[in-house]
Amino acid sequence: MKTVTTLEDLRRARAALPDPLGLVPTMGFLHEGHLSLVRRARADCASVGVSIFVNPTQFGPQEDLDSYPRDLERDLALLRDEGVDLVWTPTPEIMYPPGFQTWVTVEELTRPLEGARRPGHFRGVTTVVAKLLNAFQPQQAYFGQKDAQQAIVIRRMVRDLNFPLQVVVCPIVREPDGLAMSSRNAYLNPEERRAATVLHRALTAAEQAFRAGTREAEALRRIMSQVLAEEPLARPQYVSAADPETLEELQGPVERALLSMAVYVGETRLIDNVVVGDRG
Ligand code: AMP
Repeated sequence: MKTVTTLEDLRRARAALPDPLGLVPTMGFLHEGHLSLVRRARADCASVGVSIFVNPTQFGPQEDLDSYPRDLERDLALLRDEGVDLVWTPTPEIMYPPGFQTWVTVEELTRPLEGARRPGHFRGVTTVVAKLLNAFQPQQAYFGQKDAQQAIVIRRMVRDLNFPLQVVVCPIVREPDGLAMSSRNAYLNPEERRAATVLHRALTAAEQAFRAGTREAEALRRIMSQVLAEEPLARPQYVSAADPETLEELQGPVERALLSMAVYVGETRLIDNVVVGDRG
């Protein structure tokens, strides 16, 4: 496994790797969710690249950029064990050279849900992902359903900008008690860690109601909110039943829905989702 920092070294090392190359973009502090993407890329592709970059432009001024967990040595050991070929750890100065003023923005799809609560977040995500795709020139790029809106936004960007690659979205990997794996789970104290299972319990309750015949979007949102309200440490920011393609909030009876939420547990903001309906 080769680990590089400069763009010149990345380009040289990439050129020596066989196609198809699968790219897994990450912000590091890797867990089984990230590794599931790496394993899928390893199974699909002749070579595998991973980027580790805590992207400052996708964090708001009040968000956790400075405290975001990092452990590069551990990350590299995990990636070596997975048979990764190339890891890029660029610096902020490489990704954002002095005078930087060029952004990639996706419009409607970034307005609701996470986009409404994290202004500028998706502009940072799409810009950095576009730069990573330019640098690695992968044939496949792997993202997690954990960040459902992000996956949809990136798919749109790849289509709209004619990037010659396939976007692969992989299922959410969970802890045994249902909590979706996230680097941010490291912020939770033991009491908060127990409370954090409420997101999955709320989604599961709505999913079960859907399976049992509850179809009204309002009812699905109410079920999720009721379960969340039972956990005193949980402060929901939003609870949504949205169209899985357009991300518009649904009203009335629905055939398919992206059920999603953002919930503060203590100071930690957690997100989770499930798709119900023919694909869910
Ligand atoms: P991050 O390091 O948080 O930017 O995540 C890098 C990639 O891993 C993104 O595509 C995430 O959606 C994906 N990912 C993060 N957590 C999970 C998880 N629990 N299951 C599946 N994919 C995940």
